[in-house]
Amino acid sequence: MKYDTLIRQALIIDGSNTPGYLADVGILAGRIEAIGDLATVSAGHEVDARGLVLAPGFVDVHTHDDTVVIRHPQMLPKLSQGVTTVIVGNCGISAAPVSLRGDPPDPMNLLGTRAAFAYPRFADYRAAVEGAQPAVNVAALIGHTALRSNHMDDLQRTATPDEIAAMRGQLQESLEAGALGLSTGLAYASAFNATTDEVLQLSEELTAFGAVYTTHLRSEFEPVLEAMDEAFLIGRHAKAPVIISHLKCAGAGNWGRSPQLLASLEQAAKTHPVGCDCYPYAASSSTLDLKQVTDAFRITITWSTPHPEVGGRDLQDIAAQWGLSLMDAARRLQPAGAVYYGMDEADVRRILAHPLSMVGSDGLPEDPFPHPRLWGAFPRVLGHFSRDVGLFPLHTAVHKMTGLSAARFGLTERGEIREGYWADLVLFDPLRVRDVADFKEPQRAAQGIERVWVNGVLSYSEGQANGQRSGRFLARSGALGGGFSSL
Ligand SMILES: [Zn+2]
Repeated sequence: MKYDTLIRQALIIDGSNTPGYLADVGILAGRIEAIGDLATVSAGHEVDARGLVLAPGFVDVHTHDDTVVIRHPQMLPKLSQGVTTVIVGNCGISAAPVSLRGDPPDPMNLLGTRAAFAYPRFADYRAAVEGAQPAVNVAALIGHTALRSNHMDDLQRTATPDEIAAMRGQLQESLEAGALGLSTGLAYASAFNATTDEVLQLSEELTAFGAVYTTHLRSEFEPVLEAMDEAFLIGRHAKAPVIISHLKCAGAGNWGRSPQLLASLEQAAKTHPVGCDCYPYAASSSTLDLKQVTDAFRITITWSTPHPEVGGRDLQDIAAQWGLSLMDAARRLQPAGAVYYGMDEADVRRILAHPLSMVGSDGLPEDPFPHPRLWGAFPRVLGHFSRDVGLFPLHTAVHKMTGLSAARFGLTERGEIREGYWADLVLFDPLRVRDVADFKEPQRAAQGIERVWVNGVLSYSEGQANGQRSGRFLARSGALGGGFSSL
């Protein structure tokens, strides 16, 4: 038999942002061996894919799956969407390299409790991922806040020269061990007092590796353009590609400004590789941040350490029941998590549709009542935004979650259906695919995802993970591809 698996007569949407074509695909030893008319050939396992779309497995470029890929390696929330690769370590928080002296500081607590942080060196984390063998591939960024927590006794200030030198050493060692780049979360209190200069100095470690700089901006509210300029300055200084995380116009006073943000991104893209990711919802989610407490839009509490019983309820109801102001109720709930309904749908659509944007879920796997993006982001783009709303053609939707993403993060031989590439593949029904998870019932698998292969191994079919876990750790593989030349 010539192939391990033969997928017959699928509509191939290959990830390159071009329309689909009908073909057969033969998989051998984890890779795409042949694409074309394979009618006369047989294989160990054959799939009749008539009426279905075969796409590259989706790359979730924005995750906080750092420790869950080890503790719950089946990764059903991602696998069930057709995701075959997750990029962890976003927003300045990563599981490694970390040596905690107490409980993880906010927002590192999004990744788990103290016990989940067991990787003082990045190489330890990499070995743990390889040992756990998750169902999806894992690539990792190094979090600025994580580095700060290793070397600073007080996160509410900027780092001293000695502390910066220590952080640089750890960043360099991690990049040598295969990390993709550096992420920051400058909006969070645990990094907000870091000066631009602190980040500039750290970013110099990226240059020699061709590694990326990703950032949860210092502000997504009124000063968002200034925050974008800071990100571009850092990227240019380090000669490092810049990826702005979950680009948005946050806060009612900021609605309608997405054309300005996108113009700024386009302007920067003329002279430097820049891009962004976003999730396809008009509500955000993170830890409960007092700076974001407002009566201008709805806020739902997803978890609270002192008051776990309020998970899923509105902050306004909780405050009314307790006879407190929103702010005092929020203080009593901390540490806690929240969903903020703080975006305008028109901004979300404009950013999602922009050629420089990729899809990332930003899902929070530890949350007992998570934002539905954890289970629904990718099928929502395919079904709701591409098919039902008509925001862009299906091949563009696929490109934003495959070819573009792999090129931007330097994941070679992934993200497209091409002979010789790794066989990370998803077979889905273009008429049925849709996100089922919503804000009321957020932990529900998507419909229409028929089969998912990871490194050539069938890992999800008929609505079930089949127990096969064949994900790999993906080390940074050097030069970035062509994803940045598209504008
Ligand atoms: Zn973030």
